[in-house]
Amino acid sequence: GAKKRLSVVLLYDPALDSSSAQTLSLLGDLRRALEHGELRLYLQPKVALQAGDGVAAEALLRWQHPQRGLVPPMEFIPFAEQTGFVRHLTLWVFEQVAALLGQSGAREMVLRVSVNLSTRDLLDPDLSLRLGAILARYAVDAGSFCLEITESAIMDDPQRAEAMLNRLAQQGFKLSIDDFGTGYSSLAYLKRLPVNELKIDKSFVLGMQSGGGDAQIVRSTIDLAHNLGLTVVAEGVEDAALMERLRAMACDEAQGYHISRPMPADQFFGWHAGPGAA
Ligand code: C2E
Ligand code: CA
Ligand code: CA
Ligand code: CA
Repeated sequence: GAKKRLSVVLLYDPALDSSSAQTLSLLGDLRRALEHGELRLYLQPKVALQAGDGVAAEALLRWQHPQRGLVPPMEFIPFAEQTGFVRHLTLWVFEQVAALLGQSGAREMVLRVSVNLSTRDLLDPDLSLRLGAILARYAVDAGSFCLEITESAIMDDPQRAEAMLNRLAQQGFKLSIDDFGTGYSSLAYLKRLPVNELKIDKSFVLGMQSGGGDAQIVRSTIDLAHNLGLTVVAEGVEDAALMERLRAMACDEAQGYHISRPMPADQFFGWHAGPGAA
């Protein structure tokens, strides 16, 4: 809405010259945020809809800005992607999660944590080395991580993405295709990529209530995922009715406000899946 747009403009207006003082100033702000500890790691639970697995989580970034308060990622991630700075943010998030998973008892609380990668990360030839160094520092396994890559990031340069994903899979990371259904990926690529999971974009999940084809898209995506041997996750599960419909459609996992909003990482370990969760 108008409010959201206004705050985006206050932070960064891409219509202005990208070499302008404003760009430099936001980049400076982001550097400072990283150096002065203004970034916050949030975790959102991801629960099994069918019997079996326990709780997983997705890592989501927030910026606790000294003047602006808690800034959501859509107000600085796109900018960070444009400038390439996002690679520092990715490594920060990954390291925070590794540190959490390295603590004793953490593995009993969470099966696996998903971390979002951007297009820029996929193009960094040293990504796998950098992640490996962090794993070694905290003595955690790659298998405790799922790396989420959007369909559009893959389709940006499918061949390079494929090579990178093969390398990450070999290293032991689980891989997920995020925002599935929004990025026009070809099914031929999907079959070739070493991915474990499809994440149905929340626009389709939220649209299930209003008819108009979204429920059919969700159902077909679940079938497609299962036919390819992949786990399928629905995001944007905002109420109990949606959760039950997805469960009945054989969707494997759910994430959304009905289960829990993203919360500061230290609160996550005190959180318990409610009666609605599997
Ligand atoms: P995403 O990866 O698709 O993450 C899911 C987004 O959906 C999150 O928004 C989450 O809070 C929101 N969400 C979860 N459940 C519900 C629900 O039931 N209803 C609705 N309406 N929304 C729900 P958030 O945290 O604002 O993040 C937005 C996007 O910013 C993410 O979308 C991702 O693309 C990007 N992002 C966030 N953290 C990172 C990060 O560490 N690295 C990168 N590269 N991108 C990030
Ligand atoms: Ca994601
Ligand atoms: Ca998503
Ligand atoms: Ca998204």
